[in-house]
This record gives sequence, structure tokens and C-alpha cells, in this order.
Amino acid sequence: MTLPEAFVARTVRDLGADEAAALCAALDTAPAVSVRLNPAKTAAQGVPRVADGAAPVPWCAEGRYLDSRPSFTLDAAFHAGAYYVQEASSQFVGRLVGDIAGRRVLDLCAAPGGKTTLYASLAGTEGLVVANEIDRRRVQALCDNVRRWGTGNVAVTCCDPRTVCDAEAWFDAVAVDAPCSGEGMFRKDDEARAAWSEGNVRLCAARQDEILAEAWRALRPGGTLVYSTCTFNREEDEGTLARFARSVGGELTESDRVAVDPAWGIVCGREGAFQTFRFFPHRARGEGFFAAVARKADDAPGRSRLPRGRRQPIAAVDRAAAAELRRWVAEPDAMRFGSAGDCCYGWYEAQAEAVAALSSALPVVYSGVAMGQLFKGRLKPDAALALFAGMERGALPGAELSDEEALRYLRRQEIDAARLAEGMNLVGCEGRPLGFAKRIGGRVNNLYPNAWRILKN
Ligand code: SAM
Repeated sequence: MTLPEAFVARTVRDLGADEAAALCAALDTAPAVSVRLNPAKTAAQGVPRVADGAAPVPWCAEGRYLDSRPSFTLDAAFHAGAYYVQEASSQFVGRLVGDIAGRRVLDLCAAPGGKTTLYASLAGTEGLVVANEIDRRRVQALCDNVRRWGTGNVAVTCCDPRTVCDAEAWFDAVAVDAPCSGEGMFRKDDEARAAWSEGNVRLCAARQDEILAEAWRALRPGGTLVYSTCTFNREEDEGTLARFARSVGGELTESDRVAVDPAWGIVCGREGAFQTFRFFPHRARGEGFFAAVARKADDAPGRSRLPRGRRQPIAAVDRAAAAELRRWVAEPDAMRFGSAGDCCYGWYEAQAEAVAALSSALPVVYSGVAMGQLFKGRLKPDAALALFAGMERGALPGAELSDEEALRYLRRQEIDAARLAEGMNLVGCEGRPLGFAKRIGGRVNNLYPNAWRILKN
């Protein structure tokens, strides 16, 4: 499909004829394929086969370019959360957000969760990432990816930015990966070309203005604001930042300088206090992307507060229940346990209070790690627990499956009982857990969730 004429004309206006011609030519070439490794599931187990020997993404320590596009659906390591299939340019935001270990981060436009999982790895077990998605239809994929990543330090909310940003001055960093006209997707996606129009560019820009205004409320003084789009036009990139900067005036200030190696091909610039970074597919190895970073001034007004809670969905568990739950995690002293509905959860202690406060104030749909249900004092584990990097592997017998058996398991087909101990087992492949299965005599009850089952042959 040819590029929309009005897009080409706008690009010539924005970039000049030569740059626009080079960009448009690159949009007709094949996109690069890349993944980002999960440090919590590759440090001990090693790099998954799919990325073995793959070239590194220069701006992201965990990023890897693959030579071709494998079937990720048929790779057990993908289902174990060993990596996320993420476009290389997007991985750059990890450099912008700064040192967020132990910090609270709001990922305001989060689904399906590529950047959420990146921030979760950077925030570590003492930090918290609140991943918000406005669209109910997209929040399920976000929750699934968060569970699969298994860091246990994410809370997912599903609401309008106006609601979640009522957590005023509560976050050390806020990331706005804004809905945009998606010109950077033109290389991958004909639908993005078909959907493009001048009207949509204007609509997206207006929406971005609204989202940034909300994001600003949620950011504490001194905190970092990261803005990104996957589009090239200035109206949604520098234009949005300039309109935003005018609206907040002196409250906006520069962040620490982000070092970029010229060999990476990223076009660095400035828009007022923002450092800006443009990824053009004819210059950098990745898809079209725009990212920017600035800070809220230390003396900007803002007092940290959450909206008044109306209900507390998290209940404490009694000592016996806590003792049973503690058995299932590798660092029980670093965690707190509770229940919501009929499911027990674990949260890292460092942010447990924050998650409880947030859950009473906002529509949190998932947080920490879902551990499962208690029956007569014994835990019937949730599939999310198997994927949790902090699970205690010695809590139950483990069964290592071959690639072929792992696929049978992931399809919810029968697996060979001989490999399993009697009772509940943690099953995995290449040392990475995939889920639970229960052997009863010669039969195996495959407990992989139906909703996650592989349907593809
Ligand atoms: N950050 C995600 C990732 O890395 O996987 C991609 C986010 S995508 C570029 C933008 C998201 O913004 C979409 O999930 C979309 O549903 C959401 N969105 C759409 N309209 C919105 C609005 N008015 N306010 C906030 N988010 C919105």
C-alpha cells in the first residue's frame, strides 16, 4: 500500500525534502525484529534459545535483534516470560526514566505492557509500577503480560487518566506513551497507513494535550516526565511538548543529560526543557519513534496525596494462612500477604502499604502476585505464581519438560504422567516454570489456564 499523499507532504514540510525522501523509502523496507530479555528469568537460566548469539540493541542492555521472526507463540520461553517481543526503538525509554530502583512509576498509557515490563525490571522489588490502561478491551492483555513477566511489583489500573492522576504528586516518574497517529508503524502495518489522516493527527494532538496535563498532576516535584509516540509529525511530538511547556511554564525544568552514542543513529534535539530523541528507520535500527524527557521543578507546587478511599478490597490473612503463603515464596520476609475476593496475593513489603492505599482509592484490577486460593489451609496455586520470579521452587516437586511436551502442556493437552511426582507439580522447560499440573495416579490434570492456551498448530 502506498504512503498517504498528505503524510508525504507533511513529512516534507517537517523534515525537508531529502530527509523525507530517505524516510519514505525506508518505510517500504522490512522492519527489524527484536526482543527484550527478562533479567529475572535469564540471569540464572541463561539467554533463551531464540536470542542465543543475537546482536545487542545498543541502547538497552537487555535488548536483542533477531535475524528473522520466529514463531514466538510456539516458543515455551516466551510463555515463561523470559523475554518480551518489543521493538528496539521503544526500549530506549529505559534510558530516559532515570534511576527508578525503589521508586514509584506511573505508566499512564500502558497496554499491552511493553514499557510497563521494562519499567518493572528497572524498578526492582522495592519499587512499584502503576500501569494504567483506559481501554477495557486492552487491559486483559496488559494483565497477562504483567503476570508472565513475573516481577510482582506492578499494579494495573483501568481508568481514564483523569482518575488515576488524582493520585496527585504521588509518582517519582510518569511515562506517557501517548496514543498517536502511528506513522512509525507504517513499515509494519498497512492498517496504520489506511487509518492515517490530517484530521486524526489533530485529534491525537488534542488528546495528547489532555493526557499530559493529567500526567503532570500525578508527578511529584523533582520527578521525571517521559513522553513518547510512534509517530513522526511535529504536531504530535515537538508540537505537543511546546503546547504543554507553555501551559506549565516555570514548573518544567531540564533533566540530567542523557548520553547517546552518535553511532546509534538517533537524532537528538531539544524542545524547551525537553531533551528529544527521534528514531528514523533510515538512520537507527528500529521503527519510527519519538521520545522526550524533562523534570518537574523541585519547587513546583504539589503535595503528595491519594483520593479518599471508599472501600478497602484487600483484607489481611490470619497467621495460619500467612504461614502457608510464606512457604511458596523465596523471600517470605520481604513480602506481605493478603486476600482480595477469594484469591490470596503477595506484595513486596517495600510497596505493600502503597498498593493497599492505591487499591482503596483507584480501580486496581491486578497487583503484586496472585498466589491462589486456600482450601482447608492449603494453597491451590494460581498460574501467576508459577510465573512469579520470586516463587520458592522447592515448595513442590518440579518437572522439566522437553520442547515438545512443553507445547503439549501449553495447548492444555495431556502430558506424560511418568515425569511428574504424585500430587501438584511445577512444570517448566529449560529451567523456567510455565505452570502447574497435578498427577493423580496415571492421570495428569493440566492446570494451565484455558484463556492462555496456545491455539495455533
Ligand atoms: N505503552 C504501551 C506499550 O509499550 O506496550 C503502548 C501504548 S499505546 C501507544 C497507547 C495506549 O493509550 C493504548 O493502549 C490506548 O488504548 C491508550 N489510550 C487511548 N486513548 C487514551 C486516552 N484518551 N487516555 C489515555 N490512554 C489512552
